[in-house]
Amino acid sequence: MKQIFYSSLIFISIFIINFSCTNKTTQEEENTEVSESTSDKTEQKYEWTDCQNCGMPTNDFPNWQVMLKANSENLAFCAPRCMFIHLADSSNNVATSIEKMEVTDYYTTQKIDGKTAFYVTGSDKTSPMGKDFVPFAKKEDAQNFMTEHNGKKIYSFGEINKEAVVLELK
Ligand SMILES: [Zn+2]
Repeated sequence: MKQIFYSSLIFISIFIINFSCTNKTTQEEENTEVSESTSDKTEQKYEWTDCQNCGMPTNDFPNWQVMLKANSENLAFCAPRCMFIHLADSSNNVATSIEKMEVTDYYTTQKIDGKTAFYVTGSDKTSPMGKDFVPFAKKEDAQNFMTEHNGKKIYSFGEINKEAVVLELK
C-alpha cells in the first residue's frame, strides 16, 4: 500500500513538473509567434502599388514584380525592365541611393536580392513589358535558362549600366 502511495506521489510530481514545463513552452511559443508576426509585418510593409515607371498594377505580375528601396522610400515596379529604365534615368538620384532591392527569381518565383542576382537577356521569354533582364538567384539556373530559352548574355547587377539597358531593351 505504501508503495502505491509513493508511486502515485512520484507520478503526481512528474505530472506537475511536466505541466509547468508545458506551460512554459506554450508561453515561449506564444512569444515566438508574436515576434514572427511582427517580422512578417515588416516584410509585408511593401505596398505593391502601380509601377513607378509604367503605371501598371505591380500586383498583377507576382512572377516579375520588383521592390526597390531607395532614399528610405519603397518603389514598386512591374518587372526588372521598368526598374532598370528607372535606374538608368539620371534625372532621379535613385541609382546612387539604393538601400534594398528584391527581384523575382524566374524559376522559383521567390523574392531574391537583386544586387546579387544573375540576369539573362536576349531570351525568347518576355516579361509584361517585353524584352527584359530575367533574374535568377543561382548562376547555374541562369545558365540553364539561357540554354533552354536561347538567351544571349548573363549580367551581374553591377554590369547593367545605361548602355546595357539601351542595348538589351531596345
Ligand atoms: Zn512597369
